[in-house]
Amino acid sequence: MLYIVPTPIGNLQDITLRALETLKTADAVLCEDTRRTQILLAHFGISKPSYRYNENDERSIARCLEALRSGKNCALVSDCGTPCISDPGWKLVKAAVAEGIKVSSLPGPSAVACALAGAGITGGSFTFLGFLPRKPGKAAKLIAAAYGLNHPVILYESPYRVVKMLQLIARTLGADTPVIIARELSKVYEEWQRGTAESLADEWSKKNKVQGEFVLIIDRPAGPEREDENAPDPYF
Ligand code: SAM
Repeated sequence: MLYIVPTPIGNLQDITLRALETLKTADAVLCEDTRRTQILLAHFGISKPSYRYNENDERSIARCLEALRSGKNCALVSDCGTPCISDPGWKLVKAAVAEGIKVSSLPGPSAVACALAGAGITGGSFTFLGFLPRKPGKAAKLIAAAYGLNHPVILYESPYRVVKMLQLIARTLGADTPVIIARELSKVYEEWQRGTAESLADEWSKKNKVQGEFVLIIDRPAGPEREDENAPDPYF
C-alpha cells in the first residue's frame, strides 16, 4: 500500500496524528531528501529506513514500485507540505494505480490551501498554477488565461523571482491588479500583504534581500461580479 503523507510547511506541530501513525507503521519512507526526512522522523522519535525518490530517475520509481509490489507499506513524503502538489510523487502514484496497488492520500498541510483560507477572499473556485515556467512569455500567457476564468489565481514563487513575478503580473493584468502575498506561512515571521501588483513589486524591489517562501494570490478587482461569485450555488 502506498500512503501519501503530508508534512508541515513550517511548524512541526502541524503534522497530523494519522501522518505520525502512518510513518511509524510503514515499512519504508520514500522521500525527496533522506537527510531532511530523517531529521523530521527523528524529531518525532521515529526510526525508519528512508529511500530517495526522484521523479526524474526511472530507476528510483522502479525501486519504489518493486517494494510496493512485494507487499511493503510505503509512506511517500516530500520536503514539505503535500507530495505531488508542486512536488514529486505523481509518477509513482500513477504507476501504482496502473498496477492496482492501493493508494491512500492523507489530508494535511499544503501552502496553497493555507494561503487561500487566510486570504479572506472567495474560495469557491480558484486556479492554482503552482510554479510558472521561467520564460516570461509563457508565464504571462498562463496567468492571462487563468485570470480570464474570473476567479482568483494562486502561484508559488521563490524569493529570487518574486519581484520579477509581481512585475510580470502588473504588465500582464494591469498595475492595479489586487495581489495578496502570504509569506512564511505557519513560521515565526508569517506575513500577509495586500496591495496591487505594482505597489508590491515596488515595495519588494527596494528590499536589500528577499527571503522566505511565498504564495501569491491574484485576486479579482472589487465590483458587482464578485457579488455574483459569492451567490449560493443554484444546485443546492
Ligand atoms: N508540496 C508543497 C505544498 O503542498 O504546498 C509545496 C512544495 S513547493 C516545492 C514549495 C513552494 O511552496 C514554495 O516555493 C512556496 O511557494 C510554497 N510554500 C511552501 N511552504 C510555504 C510557507 N511556509 N509559506 C509560504 N509558501 C510556502
